[in-house]
Amino acid sequence: MANVQKEPVKPDYIGIDIGGTNTRLGLFQSPGMPGFATLAKFPTCQRYEQQLQGIITAIESVGLTNLAGIGVSIAGRIARDGRSVIVAPNLPGYIDMPFAQDLSNQFGCLTRLAHDAVCGLLAEKKFGFLQHFDRCAYVTVSTGTGAAIQLTKAAITLISSIEIGHQILDGNQRFCLCGQVGCLETFTGGKQIELRYGHAIAEITDSAFWENFCAKLAIGLINLAMLTRIDAVAMSGAIMLNNPHLLMRIQQRIDTMIRGSMLRLGLALSGEDAPLIGAALLLDVPEETILH
Ligand SMILES: [Zn+2]
Repeated sequence: MANVQKEPVKPDYIGIDIGGTNTRLGLFQSPGMPGFATLAKFPTCQRYEQQLQGIITAIESVGLTNLAGIGVSIAGRIARDGRSVIVAPNLPGYIDMPFAQDLSNQFGCLTRLAHDAVCGLLAEKKFGFLQHFDRCAYVTVSTGTGAAIQLTKAAITLISSIEIGHQILDGNQRFCLCGQVGCLETFTGGKQIELRYGHAIAEITDSAFWENFCAKLAIGLINLAMLTRIDAVAMSGAIMLNNPHLLMRIQQRIDTMIRGSMLRLGLALSGEDAPLIGAALLLDVPEETILH
């Protein structure tokens, strides 16, 4: 009888994007490729145990036999050891829960977590607008205003999320949801704008509002560039992706104010998929390059 050799089963990788509103799971053949098949999309559950069970059920339903890794993008600050969430205004039930360990125990594979802006940056750096920049940032302008930066020189790379939305602008007396007074996000955060104006930002057509929005965001981005020496920013998040014309207005304001350096803005080419693609890319990036 002929000796039939079985083909080795190709490994599969899962990327998970947990936003304040929705959770998406993608199945990747390689963490280093942007293509994926959507496994599931469901409303993010505020209760940790229920959310974990939803993720487990979605993964088990595909019957993978060689799951090699799970990368998770989450709208929250990650503990320094990269294993849990420590600050998550939109997901308070997840704080300090052993998220990475729970997924590893369930599936017996490598599990990595990162801030959603870090994941977005990974996707744009590998496949998108930031490909040719060694010093760059990814800024998401959505419910909140968040960012991550990457600084690379030769073989050394450092990636970190940063609190761009909670930098204080001089003369701003507005109270921020974070507890500080004067944050940038009081002008640019979708949730805070909705609370202040009584309706969603998508319904605001007042041109003075949008001028001020662009002016404040331009100041926030110049401060970011001056403090970190970045050269380029991939702009993302629902507010930017739904209003691409804002990009030019913000760029013009930056160009009239900044001196001694240039700051180039571009829309995130992966759009709203950036955090999900970046979640899978986490499995391909050395842990020590990410400063949680
Ligand atoms: Zn704040």
